[in-house]
Parts: sequence; structure tokens; C-alpha cells
Amino acid sequence: MQVPTIGVLALQGAFQSHQQRLAELGAPTRQIRTPADLVGIDALVMPGGESTTMSKLLVTSGLFEPIAARIVDGMPVFGTCAGMILLATEVLDGRPDQLSFGAIDITVQRNGYGRQLDSFETEISMPAFGDDAAPFHGVFIRAPKVVRLGVGVEVLAEHDGVPVILRQRAITVASFHPELANDHRLHAQFLNSFTRIPSHAETS
Ligand code: GLN
Repeated sequence: MQVPTIGVLALQGAFQSHQQRLAELGAPTRQIRTPADLVGIDALVMPGGESTTMSKLLVTSGLFEPIAARIVDGMPVFGTCAGMILLATEVLDGRPDQLSFGAIDITVQRNGYGRQLDSFETEISMPAFGDDAAPFHGVFIRAPKVVRLGVGVEVLAEHDGVPVILRQRAITVASFHPELANDHRLHAQFLNSFTRIPSHAETS
């Protein structure tokens, strides 16, 4: 697979910034709004936004079932903030009817950083990118907090002892908004997990 097509779930939320980051890396994207849009995509990004609204729209658009089936088939997915909530096994403080794909074995608490830290920005050390790796500028906006980690979930980065970037098999999640930082490393790492992209794109 030389040039993959990345679907970006475009029901609601910050999907355009993800498309921009991926375009800067040379990866074509497609906005996903209907089941037909899923045909031929190699991977999917679930953006930040409002997970309760996205959950409803996933059902009304008819996308929930086909996306769930693709996840079971091993499609790589990168979920950020609300996208992380949608991919988690268990969601605390959600709406009772809120659905999630159960694709990564974590429990997340919606808006878990509390009122004081509703939104904040911080530098996150990135040991997964090597000992000398520059920190990643983390933009947290009413972010979910990981409160339980299942067996087999890999922690790629933490903030104050709480995991903020995690991976299990083909699923990668971040509790913040990497698409809002001028840093392509997480998107490049996601692309590299299932394809090769031109090396110049991996540098920033
Ligand atoms: N608090 C939002 C939710 O529960 C997530 C916030 C975000 O994606 N920036 O869905």
C-alpha cells in the first residue's frame, strides 16, 4: 500500500484539522459521513468534538455497525479526545445511551480533568520517540481521563502519571488534540504503523 486513503469521521467536531495535518504528510483523506464513504479506506481518524453527539450521529447515519465491523477486521483507527471516548471499552460520566466501539481496553472518564483544568496546554514527554525526543505540545479541551488500563494496552505517553497516548493492536488514542499542535509526529507514526510514507514527511 503506497498511498493509503485515510477516512476522517466528519459527523461533528475537529475533523478538518486532522485532514490538514494528514495532507501535510502527503496522505489523502476522505470525509466519512455515510456507510458508502467507508468503501476503500485503509484507516480511520475519529476526531475530538462531543462524544455524545457523535454517538447519536453514528447511529442515525448508519455508520456505527459498519465501522464496528471494520474495527473487528483490524482497520487502524486513531482517536483523539472524543474519538478516544468512542473507542474505549468503558465510559464513565457519559449519557446512559452513549455508544462506544470497545476497541481499546480502557475506562475513560468524560471531562475527567475537572472544572479547574477544563482546558489546558502542557508539554508531554515522548519517550516512545526516543530519549532525546522533543516534548509534544498537548492541547487538552474538556479531555477524557484514563482511569483503568486493560492488559495489552501500551502506554506511549503520560501526563502527571496518567496515560494520555495509548495503543492496543491497530487502535491508537490520545486524550488531547494532536491535530491542533504544529507537530506531525503522532499522525506520521499512525501512518507508518500500516504503510510507508515519504520520509521527508516524517520530520516535523
Ligand atoms: N468532553 C468531550 C466529550 O465528552 C470531549 C472533548 C473533546 O473532544 N475536546 O465528548
